[in-house]
Amino acid sequence: MEIPQLKPSDRSREYDSYSDELRSEVVKGWLFDGLPHRTLDREVLGLDSAVSKGYQSMGILHFLGMKREFQGLFNGASFSEAIQHLQKDHQDFSAIIKYIDPTKKTAGNGTLESLIKTEESEIKKAQNDSSENRLKRIAAAKKNPERIRVYSYTYKRNPDIVAEALARASGKCERCKNKAPFVRASDNSPYLEVHHVKSLVNGGEDSLENVMAICPNCHREMHFGTIA
Ligand SMILES: [Zn+2]
Ligand SMILES: [Zn+2]
Repeated sequence: MEIPQLKPSDRSREYDSYSDELRSEVVKGWLFDGLPHRTLDREVLGLDSAVSKGYQSMGILHFLGMKREFQGLFNGASFSEAIQHLQKDHQDFSAIIKYIDPTKKTAGNGTLESLIKTEESEIKKAQNDSSENRLKRIAAAKKNPERIRVYSYTYKRNPDIVAEALARASGKCERCKNKAPFVRASDNSPYLEVHHVKSLVNGGEDSLENVMAICPNCHREMHFGTIA
């Protein structure tokens, strides 16, 4: 099997902007599925490919040296077959092998819930530190945050319940009785949020009796305030 020449680019901007997990998915999508850059941007990186035009996944792949010649190179092959071919080659493929080796599985960030929990505890830790230390770290920190992927579970809500609760509220928060704070840009309807009094996670019903159409302030308070 003929392995093309690696042509790594110096530009690391896109590569640096994505987690190992996402880089791995881009590399595999390119080598094994032969997916176009735009498809990888959309399906792996979760971007609007009409805007990103495939440049994000292309940047990752070019940084690793993989141009067009590598697209679909291992179509139909297994990961271990591909790794064998790459290891036999005279070029150094270790940076790429790391992304297709299933034993070096790049851990994802897990669930959205665990990410939020981690973030909360990191914020607590930062709050307990001095402003001086925080500002020092901020000065040294990257300003473009890394894009990651998380898995999220939710409930499919009955649209009739949402619509009916909004109609019932008729533009006024069902908790504080104030007018909705603004109208939705999409349809000029009063902006209220439909909240489950007993949450679905805790076994609450998706029923008219268990929902309130409330303003965003009240909604936040219901979830994060002392009455929550
Ligand atoms: Zn309210
Ligand atoms: Zn809610």
